[in-house]
Amino acid sequence: MNTMNLSKKLKSKSFRLVGEAADAMQRECYVVGGYVRDLIIGRHSKDIDFVTVGSGIELATKVGENIGPRAHLAVYRNYGTAQLHFGKTELEFVGARRESYSRDSRNPIVEDGTLDDDLARRDFTINAMAISVNADTFGELIDRYDGLGDIERRIIRTPLDPDITFSDDPLRMMRAIRFATQLDFDIEPETFAALNRNAARIEIISGERIKDELMKIMASPRPSKGWYLLLRSGLLDFIFPELVRMKGVEVVHGRAHKDNFVHTMTVLDSVAAASENVWLRWAALLHDIGKPVTKHFDDERGWTFHNHNFIGAKMVKSIFRRMKLPQGSELTYVSKLVELHMRPIALVEDEVTDSAVRRLANYAEADLEDLMVLARADITSKDEARKARYLANFDLVEEKFRDIFAKDAELNRKNPVNGNEIMELFGLPQSPEVGYFTKSLKQAIKDCEIEDTRIAAFEYVLALAREKGIEPLFDPIEREKEVEAAAESGAADKSQPDKSQPDE
Ligand code: ATP
Ligand code: MG
Repeated sequence: MNTMNLSKKLKSKSFRLVGEAADAMQRECYVVGGYVRDLIIGRHSKDIDFVTVGSGIELATKVGENIGPRAHLAVYRNYGTAQLHFGKTELEFVGARRESYSRDSRNPIVEDGTLDDDLARRDFTINAMAISVNADTFGELIDRYDGLGDIERRIIRTPLDPDITFSDDPLRMMRAIRFATQLDFDIEPETFAALNRNAARIEIISGERIKDELMKIMASPRPSKGWYLLLRSGLLDFIFPELVRMKGVEVVHGRAHKDNFVHTMTVLDSVAAASENVWLRWAALLHDIGKPVTKHFDDERGWTFHNHNFIGAKMVKSIFRRMKLPQGSELTYVSKLVELHMRPIALVEDEVTDSAVRRLANYAEADLEDLMVLARADITSKDEARKARYLANFDLVEEKFRDIFAKDAELNRKNPVNGNEIMELFGLPQSPEVGYFTKSLKQAIKDCEIEDTRIAAFEYVLALAREKGIEPLFDPIEREKEVEAAAESGAADKSQPDKSQPDE
């Protein structure tokens, strides 16, 4: 297994280019880490990391010279790394290093090392493989810790003692769970036991870095896997206690409520199956976050979670702040969906009237479709008949949404009197008044307060103008009637609303 040759898979010209430069400098050089892992798994990987025995910056400089002016070199002296961009390719270079950690410092002592030193300091066996790019060994896989076998067995395992690996850099605990979720691998039992023992060490890691891993978990095909692992490892207690509180079932007088953690995970995965939108996934994760704090047992009604959607929407704000998640439109969106998540269910529990449907549509605005995805996912009842009934009612609601939108679009298109005509009528320039008239007119037609004819529209605008003390320059109704009379002797009357036409 260790003599595997992957030269056929290294298709990009960059590998030969880097190998030639390394040979000219009489240096060992390897592709390493995530790129090798993804190449073997057959997963797309963008950035290519190279490790060389010696200075990574020197090698990158040499490769850049060979490529010529197309190449852009960025050097990070503090880290001893360099990046080379040309075209769509991004290559990263680093010298092989050895790290030693001391108990009292978070930052390791880093020294130059051999390839083996460098592989030993990596987080997982699947990330600790290298492929040579030097001409005489091109494509040879170096796999000291059987990463290849672990890919076949689909397991995440540390190359060295997991207690040391995790204690040296606790972020690796998050990475273990993130890779298990992204790749749908299991965490090997010794490694998992070390997660349990070291969970509290996560507290020295910055919120920013934890957030990056959580975002990757949420973008995975089945995010619940990551959250269950975070719960079982004990990490969730430190990074997201509000979620831990959702776990469990309480029984009073023989009446139990559902396990809200389990329910949330089911909802999260069905939303993830329906949508790539990671913020909709966050809304799914947080939709019931207000339940533990609003939970109440009532002898008559049993378990209630009164206002948990409003409380939840508020909690989203503090959670986003603490977790270093974005504070702008993403937060507003998630918080809004959490607040509204029960509305479609409430709607179908009552009678589905047009006005109730319209009210919800106006409330949710552009997020209506996402709200319906969340509401559908929220129906996790084991009672299949009940579930089918809800979903059928949602079909009905969505049909009504489509009707309403089609009608609105139709009316918008048909706007019988436009802004220019209003400006002409009152001798007004483009101004807030004119905007007020056109907007009110549109709304009145939309709400079916008036008919969508030119005469009705002018009558409405004149009435508004009277209230504001604005005088028209001429009588538009008279003019309309003249136009109509002229049209009558010629073509068909087009100003009548469709409804009054005897077309059926
Ligand atoms: P992805 O880019 O998909 O997140 P990756 O494996 O490429 O996955 P990077 O963070 O880009 O992850 O790191 C590149 C490589 O560096 C890893 O494959 C691993 O070998 C090593 N590495 C990264 N972070 C750590 C760490 N905290 N501890 C040990 N090794 C690490
Ligand atoms: Mg990477």
